[in-house]
This record gives sequence, structure tokens and C-alpha cells, in this order.
Amino acid sequence: MASSELSFDQAKTRVEELVSLLDHYSHEYYVLDQPSIPDEDYDKLYKELSELEELYPTLIQNNSPTQRIGGALLEGFEKVPHDKPMLSLDNAFSEEELIAFDRRVSQLVSGPVTYHCELKIDGLAVSLKYEEGKLLQAVTRGDGTVGENVTANVRTIKSIPLKLKEPLTLEARGEIYMPKSSFIQLNEKREEQGEAIFANPRNAAAGTLRNLDPQVTASRNLSVFLYALADSSERPVSTQDEALSLLDDIGLRTNPERKVFASIHDVLAFVEEYQEKRTSLPYEIDGIVIKVNELENQEKAGFTVKAPRWAIAYKFPAEEAKTVIRAIEWSVGRTGVVTPTAIMDPVQLAGTTVQRASLHNVDLMIEKDIRLGDTAVVRKAGDIIPEVIKVDEDMRDEESVPYDFPTHCPACGSELMHLEEEVALRCMNPKCSAQAKERLSHFVSRNAMNIDGLGEKVVSQLYERELVNDVADLYYLEKEALLALDKIAEKSASNMLKAINDSKENSLERLLFGLGIRHVGSKAARLLAEEFETMNQIKVASLESIVVIEGIGEKIASSIHSFFKLEEAQELLDKLERAHVNMTYKGKKKEELTQTDTFFSGKTVVITGKLTHFTRNDLKEALVNLGAKVTGSVSKNTDYLIAGEEAGSKLAKAQELDVTIIDEAKVLEEIEE
Ligand code: NAD
Repeated sequence: MASSELSFDQAKTRVEELVSLLDHYSHEYYVLDQPSIPDEDYDKLYKELSELEELYPTLIQNNSPTQRIGGALLEGFEKVPHDKPMLSLDNAFSEEELIAFDRRVSQLVSGPVTYHCELKIDGLAVSLKYEEGKLLQAVTRGDGTVGENVTANVRTIKSIPLKLKEPLTLEARGEIYMPKSSFIQLNEKREEQGEAIFANPRNAAAGTLRNLDPQVTASRNLSVFLYALADSSERPVSTQDEALSLLDDIGLRTNPERKVFASIHDVLAFVEEYQEKRTSLPYEIDGIVIKVNELENQEKAGFTVKAPRWAIAYKFPAEEAKTVIRAIEWSVGRTGVVTPTAIMDPVQLAGTTVQRASLHNVDLMIEKDIRLGDTAVVRKAGDIIPEVIKVDEDMRDEESVPYDFPTHCPACGSELMHLEEEVALRCMNPKCSAQAKERLSHFVSRNAMNIDGLGEKVVSQLYERELVNDVADLYYLEKEALLALDKIAEKSASNMLKAINDSKENSLERLLFGLGIRHVGSKAARLLAEEFETMNQIKVASLESIVVIEGIGEKIASSIHSFFKLEEAQELLDKLERAHVNMTYKGKKKEELTQTDTFFSGKTVVITGKLTHFTRNDLKEALVNLGAKVTGSVSKNTDYLIAGEEAGSKLAKAQELDVTIIDEAKVLEEIEE
């Protein structure tokens, strides 16, 4: 029944129902960072509630989601009130609604208006306060009035400068997001480890930024686009366009995909353009934000309790498709996690044909009640990987029965476990053939030992014919054995042996990663190799000496420590050593990394003149941190002179001696690097 057809009493009941439903979903979305329904479904319920409240204003409850912003604040973070509220945005879902917005704006603002169009980045809002150019505080939007202090986490995000190019005191606001590629990698890793996956890049960004351990934030790749100057008293601007240019100039990252238009019809064309382009962007957007450009006009338009009247978010429709699930395939990863994949009737989705979609884990399948023969609604997570969002229960066959989960490993037949703290099924048999093959494939993969020519089929045959049982056996293979495999001729057998042989020379970090130690990704492997330099040193390293390495948390450290205690690990390493596989680090040593990696490393620098970005002591400290030696006078040993304003005799002397003259901006650039 349409809202307008409900009696007052019916409307009252429905409003109560909607408030409680939306509250529940908001809690999952904002607090747990784990939504259980798609945003579009939430938006539809929200719209229904707004319409009923418009019809019967007496039914508006104080705690209605239409009167509130965001959700509850997380325990564990300091609560910080915002100087000015951080509001939400009103939504538009059609051209007509955008035209209606334009009409409302013209009534509120007399005279000409231009619109600043920006991409609506799907992340979470943050306020950054800088004092005299230094990052002072970072706070989430929270409930709009009070946010969570996430400064320690934000400091680990590389695209957020700790120091601006000018010593300004200001507040900038923007969106912290996770690039699509990082989101996909993160979920792959979590799936492999039996952990719950994030529903989309927004939830991954929120879960990462609002994590009580800054090391977790540092280990995942977050980035930022700033889109508002909340306090600009030191450097007044008169339009949104000028505000963003100012942010750019002082080193705060803004999104370049933006434009100002004088007519709503041009705005509509911009919306259409980015609806097409959205899948090719490296970050997820869920719409376009249209803002009145002139701050004076913004002031005239004002605010509602929840959102500015001078802006609107046009939300893109989600690209979804429906298809039937015909089978569910279970595959075993190298750590024993058993993952379900839906095999579906082929369907077109956002430019490609989709036939398979990961169902991630048992818990998610149970939650979505996915059954064979169900009609699935599929979408691309991070615009790339197809995913079953839900099944259409209305289209379900009457005879349909709940899915019967496997109880035994599809590869080795041993009983599967659903460990209490995990969302996945796991095969616990260390001798499981599927796990062994996956371990071999991981070992030869590009980021590990990078052995070309050993694809899945070859690895599988090698294992099944008992030519290779563990990764070390690869180094004992002989040509005759390879030639006996299906479709392997003389030439490819020689190439394979050469690739295997060449890989013996790889630097230690590749071998460490290739061993597939739980939680040790390629980054952790590199950090370990840099720190300890040889496998023998790592073997004898104490837990404490591993934990203290920056970028390696307790979980990784204890996994490494336990791995090297295993007798099997020792045997494997001995076997690799006997095959002459290199076990030393060949990259730059840690000391060299800090000294030779910056423009200033090992250079003698002199400072002169009036500085604008730094105090003299701060600049000295920054240069020393970058590996430079700072001296007082210019000589032929001087590499660079940093010349501020009104530089005098030192500048003249440097010019005479042909010393390179640079400015403070170069130092800022290097710090950012
Ligand atoms: P919103 O996300 O619709 O819009 C406001 C936000 O947009 C701002 O706070 C800011 O963070 C962001 N933004 C991105 N780019 C911007 C730009 N260039 N300029 C200004 N702001 C920009 O509103 P909201 O209040 O954060 O969230 C409401 C939405 O969240 C709903 O529409 C729904 O889609 C989703 N939600 C979903 C569930 C669920 O269960 N799936 C639950 C609650 C909320």
C-alpha cells in the first residue's frame, strides 16, 4: 500500500516499525561496519519513513533516523565535539529530483547561482584540524555533533600531511577511503585466513580507521580526498571552488574530478558522464555531490537539522543482475580454509559476463539462506568482483530446501571443522592434497619465488605423481620427470628447470613469503628480511625482537616464532639449503635505506634567510631525519643551500661556489615522500 493510502493509525504503526528497522540497520552499518542489507534497500525504507513523516508530522520521533546523523560512537575512542556540526546530505535518485533541488535553491537564493559538482567518494567523513600548519587532531563525523578522536590512526595515512606547506590554522573536512585494489587484496587475505570479509570499500575503510590499534590502520592502505574548508578565517575564500584550490595549494589532497556549472542541465550531463566512468575509477563512488558554489549563496540557503539546503547527493543506481544458482563449488586454500563459490547461469553485469561468484564463507551463506536453484541478486563489490548480495526469496521454488553444507573436505575427505572464532569451514588435515597443491602454487607465484611455467595443472600433476610433496622437492626435479607430464615438451621442460634453478638466487624475502607462514604477507616478509638479513638469524630470533619491528604486530610475530619451532619447518629449510637455495637478504640494508633513500641523504646542507614553512630548529630536525648533515657556513663541501627570503652573504657565496640552491618546499616534498 502506498504511504498516502494509510490511515493515521496504520501510519503510526508503520513509522514505529520503520524507525526500529532503520535503527537496527544503522547500528550494523555505522557501529559494526557490517551492513546486512544493500544501501539501496536502506534508502528505500528511509524514503518511505520520510514520506510518512511528511504526511503526518506529529509522528516524527526525536530519535527518528531522519532527525539524526550517523550512529552511536565506538567505545575506546575519546569523544570530541565538533566546532560546527558535520552534517549528512539530502539524496536525489532521479533527474526530476535534481531539477526540483535547483528550483528550491533559486527560491532560497536570489540572483545567479553556480554549482560545484564533486564525486561522492564512498568512505567515511573526517575532520582534520591543523594548527600553524601542523596536524593537531583528526575526528570522525560520529553523530554529527560529537565524533571519535582518530588522530593516532590518521597519522599513519600517507596521503595526509603531518605538516602543511604553509603554517595555517584551519579545519578541513573530507572522505577517508580504501582504493578498490586494496579492498580486494584485504578481503582475499581475510578469506584465506578464515576471517569475516568486509562488505564493501566503505565498510573496510570505516573498520580500518576506527580500529583501536593504529598498526592495523597503518598496515592497510587508506587514502583521503578533502572536500571542505570548515574554518578558513585565516585565508578567506568566497567559493567552494576557491576553497578546494586553497586546500590543493597547501598540500591537502583533493579530488581533481570536479567542475563548476551555471546550469542544472550541465550538472545532469556531468552526472551521466561519471555514471559511465565510475567503474574505471580506482576508488568507489556512490554518486555525485552538487553544491552551491558561492559561500554567500550557501549562507542564504542555510541548513535543515540534518543537511545543508545548498547541497544534494545524487545517488547512482546500483548495477545489479539476477541469475539462478546451479551449483556450489567448494575449494580448499593453502591454510585449509574451505571457500564456497556459486556457479550460476551466465549474466551480463557492468560490462562483463558473470558466471561465478564467491559466497565467501559458511556464516554468510547461512545468514543469506542461499540455496541451490535460488535466484541470486549479483553485484560487483569494489566494482570488480561479482558477489551475491542476496537471494530473491519470492522467486524460490516451493520444494526448495536449505543448503546441505559439506561435512568432509572435498579433496582429502577428512572431517571439516567450523572453529568457534572463525566464519569459515576448515580442513585441519596438514597432509590434505588440496592444501599441499595450493602451498606449491603459492611458493612459485609471482610475489614469492616467481617460477614461470609452473601453472596449476603442472603443479597438480607433479603432486599427484608424487614427484613433488613439498616446496623443497621442486629443486630436486629432473628433466625426465617433467617430460613424463601431460603436454610438456623438451623446450618447456628446460625452461621450467631453468626458472626453478634461477629462483635459487632470490633474495630472502621471497623465500620467506613463499613458505606461506600464517599471517606473513610479502610486506612482513620484507620487513623480517631487512631486519635479520639471514634465515638463520630469523630462526633464532626471540619473540620480543620480532614484535618490535615496526609494521609487524603481535599476531604476525607469534606466528613466525611458532613456525620456526616446528620440526617440519626445520626439515624443510634443511632440504632447501641442501639444494643451495639462497637464504640471505640481497636488498638494501636497513641503515642504507634510511641514508640513501632521500634527496638529502648524506648531503651537507646550510640554511639561510627568513623561513616561512618551518622554524629554523624544525627545519634542522627535519633535514637530519632525512639523513642530511646541517652546517653553519657555506664551503665547497656544501651540497645544498636552503635559501629563505632576504638571504644575504651566504646566498652570494653559494652562487659563487656553484652550490645548488633550493627552497623549503623541497624539504616538504621529501617529508611527504
Ligand atoms: P551519505 O553517505 O548519503 O552522504 C553524506 C556523506 O557523503 C558525507 O558525510 C560524506 O562523508 C560523504 N561524501 C563523500 N564525498 C563527498 C563530497 N564530495 N562532498 C561532501 N560529502 C561527501 O549520508 P550518510 O548520512 O553518511 O549515510 C546515509 C547513507 O548510508 C544511506 O543513504 C545509506 O545508503 C547508507 N546506510 C546504509 C545502511 C545499510 O544497512 N546498508 C545503514 C545505514 C546507512
